[in-house]
Amino acid sequence: MRKKEKTDFESVIGVEVHVQLSTKSKLFCSCSTRFGAPPNSQTCPVCLGMPGALPKLNKQAVDYALRLAWAVNGKVHRHSQMARKNYFYPDLPKGYQISQADLPICTEGELEIEVQGKQKKIRIQRIHLEEDAGKSVHNEDYVRDSETLIDLNRCGVPLVEIVTEPDFANGDEVAVFLTAVRQLVRYLQISEAHMEQGSLRCDANISVRLKDDLSLGTRTELKNLNSIRHVGKALNFERERQIQVLNSGGVVFQETRLWDEKNNQTRVMRNKELAHDYRYFPEPDLPPLRVELKHLYEIIHTQPELPRERRKRFIKEYKLEPPMAAQLTESATLANYFESTVQNDANASLSAYWILGELTALMHEQNLSIDEVPVSSKALSELLKLISDEAVSAKGAKTILRHMWDTKHSAAKLLDKLNLRQESDEQEITALTGRILKKYAPQVKAYQEGKVNLLGFFVGQVMQASGGRANPRLVHQIIKQELDHV
Ligand code: ADP
Ligand code: ZN
Ligand code: MG
Repeated sequence: MRKKEKTDFESVIGVEVHVQLSTKSKLFCSCSTRFGAPPNSQTCPVCLGMPGALPKLNKQAVDYALRLAWAVNGKVHRHSQMARKNYFYPDLPKGYQISQADLPICTEGELEIEVQGKQKKIRIQRIHLEEDAGKSVHNEDYVRDSETLIDLNRCGVPLVEIVTEPDFANGDEVAVFLTAVRQLVRYLQISEAHMEQGSLRCDANISVRLKDDLSLGTRTELKNLNSIRHVGKALNFERERQIQVLNSGGVVFQETRLWDEKNNQTRVMRNKELAHDYRYFPEPDLPPLRVELKHLYEIIHTQPELPRERRKRFIKEYKLEPPMAAQLTESATLANYFESTVQNDANASLSAYWILGELTALMHEQNLSIDEVPVSSKALSELLKLISDEAVSAKGAKTILRHMWDTKHSAAKLLDKLNLRQESDEQEITALTGRILKKYAPQVKAYQEGKVNLLGFFVGQVMQASGGRANPRLVHQIIKQELDHV
């Protein structure tokens, strides 16, 4: 076979995303799901798999799954079935995981992502409910080098698994998709979706093929991708590796590979297990899951506003530029902050400008998220009103915002305390202007003889004489008036 160029190949990728649902209790028992509790403190006979303990399905988890199904335009199955997925692992005390197999709660959804300015639809094959397994602990101080300990707090925590069709062409598209999923589930208030804490996890399946091939190549499955950046890196590495294998006459094995963050490579973990290895069968301890039509309507009616809807509404209702609306709706908390600023009577475009500008800059500087910002939306709106009323210059307002951040004093109080009230009294400014023009009589003459760019000089002098507090718009206007009348 002729050696092919790298560009003769294309990669095909599909992902399985696990989203931890933020219910208070576990999927089949009333144990708490709180993150960070002492090991094995949140367990009971059900989630420990004691003989005779019976699971009971958490309704809230089902409702969350339905919310997601509806948001991705999926086909909601009002009749689904929990199933046992059998395998052995130390963090799985029952010896099986309760999941859904051939009757998942949702199939055929889609989620639109933006790739290089273009919209692309990613098809969602299925969404199903399942319980999480426990955790093997190696890296804590209380674990000796040769030991692995087991923490079963996570055992039985509810998850939804989102399985996409192989619709991605590269790791970057997957990264955009994961960002969109994270945004969506946070908007829907069904998950915290923190990749670092494991409440959003992604396994990626990738194969390569020659561009004119019709069938898919053999895929590998990548695990241990614990940040969105790693997902992109791991997929790009794996794509190159598979092309090299094929180009040197080898074959790609269907296997599960781990992303090795230290060495920037993927390595074999195990041969890929096939569905029949799990001996799926319907969970005999749970009845089929039925969703009443009436209940589904309730879910639909109480569905929170979706990111794309909110973005559109911001453009229409607040007359924002689309990129600004997109930035403001990146998270529901940021969007809420903006809307509550506007509801406190601040001008909408001024609010958008300040929140995305100065406020965001301060947040980055201090590494805070929007819900940690010490200036409330109400306090910010008061500052913005001072700007609209020309009581303070933009520069002065920036100084005030920094002080508000540190002292929590009101904008009005700081305006006086820092002596930043803008001079907007026309008589005062006219008097000041008169003095300056007198002082610079030769320049005034030059101006009138045609050196009109001296205007800036005069404005600067008046501003300086006012200690920077004169209203620049008025200064400009009054100087022009005076010069034309001298
Ligand atoms: P499994 O039996 O391992 O669960 P699935 O058919 O459910 O396999 O697919 C799992 C994921 O792998 C899906 O996201 C799917 O899009 C993706 N996938 C399947 N075949 C390929 C392939 N040849 N190349 C890339 N991705 C694939
Ligand atoms: Zn329990
Ligand atoms: Mg599968």
